[in-house]
Amino acid sequence: MDRLIEGFRRFRATYYREHHDLFATLVKRGQSPRIMVISCADSRVDPELIFDTAPGEIFVVRNVANLVPPYALSASYHGTSAALEFAVRSLRVEHVVVLGHARCGGITALLQPDMDPRGDFISAWMTIATPARERALAAGGAPEVVQRACEHEAIRISLGNLMTFPWIRERVRQRALAVHGCYFDLETGDLLQLGTSGRFEPV
Ligand SMILES: [Zn+2]
Repeated sequence: MDRLIEGFRRFRATYYREHHDLFATLVKRGQSPRIMVISCADSRVDPELIFDTAPGEIFVVRNVANLVPPYALSASYHGTSAALEFAVRSLRVEHVVVLGHARCGGITALLQPDMDPRGDFISAWMTIATPARERALAAGGAPEVVQRACEHEAIRISLGNLMTFPWIRERVRQRALAVHGCYFDLETGDLLQLGTSGRFEPV
């Protein structure tokens, strides 16, 4: 905890002080981010850092492997779906970005012949991306090629799952909301965006 307390003190003495007006405005007017980002919990992939955004600019939910589950009404606890509901229906964001990344541990686990059966939650969560695993393995190649293909496919699946939410589908149809797929390459520092060609291209 000492590391965090020290960091907080630095933040308060510098960033918070220098941006006091911004925080005061955000307190007074509330938040009105125009963009939601769904990213991995991976400690190396920080959306605010990568996109160089200020507080109040992007609404972020992070989970294992930046997955969007399909729309499902059940008694389970739907953390990502709840965040989507708040961002889209209450904040009325105009963009939802699924941000994947290279060397994703969740995707690596998904590609193992047998995911660790001792786990309580991860293997069940990662089944959202099972079709990505199948497609990447079918395409073949070296392990790093399969890994990257699976990471890209998982983003496509999440984008497809976004459209299973009726209020997202409706807002996209009205052109009030757009969904995007992005991929951060840790090794090169490149950001790729899923284009209309269906491929991930450097921005
Ligand atoms: Zn990850």
